[in-house]
Amino acid sequence: MRILIVEDEAALAEQLARHLRDVGYVVDCAVDGEEGLYYGREYDYDAAVIDIGLPKIDGIEVIRRLRDDERRFPVLILTARGHWQDKVSGLESGADDYLTKPFHMEELTARLNALVRRAAGYASPIIEEGELSLDTAKKEVRVSGEAVELTAFEYKVLEYLMLNPSRVVSKSELTEHLYEQDYDRDSNVIEVFVGRLRKKLDPVKAIKTVRGQGYRFVTAS
Ligand code: CA
Repeated sequence: MRILIVEDEAALAEQLARHLRDVGYVVDCAVDGEEGLYYGREYDYDAAVIDIGLPKIDGIEVIRRLRDDERRFPVLILTARGHWQDKVSGLESGADDYLTKPFHMEELTARLNALVRRAAGYASPIIEEGELSLDTAKKEVRVSGEAVELTAFEYKVLEYLMLNPSRVVSKSELTEHLYEQDYDRDSNVIEVFVGRLRKKLDPVKAIKTVRGQGYRFVTAS
């Protein structure tokens, strides 16, 4: 999952980025509204965290312009304590949730996870498809009730496919959403990971290869 952070307070931005990377997200940081808008238009994110008070273009305007451009990823805004009007304007401009500074990183992560999940159409943190169950909060996978040991990257691949069911996800989309930008992207590596993942999930056969295009997570129903 790729997250955009737009925050001008360098220390907070760094703390946010570090925390989100620790829990498995890929993170891009923008330091002002202009850069945030550029990133948000240029790349496909799974969610964004946008500070309201930003240099150049304020957060409200950034969200409004992104929504005008049909960018639909969930947005969580950060507001200063006491500025309740910012929450209202933020939500009215197209944000999905808010947090007031200062906040606990765990709360931010929980809210982001919920936003990403709900954007994919899931209300519960546990996604079940036939014999397969994925706990997005605990990052645990089970097949027929038995825990399956996945590496962090294998988990990310499975989670991304399960949160984008019934459509073809290309290898380049997987690398864009699951690797940091400076990582050496090689689509053969993705094939290796998917191969291992399939073996571990056996007998579940939910990850189909669509020749020349990518992968599709096939739901049980
Ligand atoms: Ca600020």
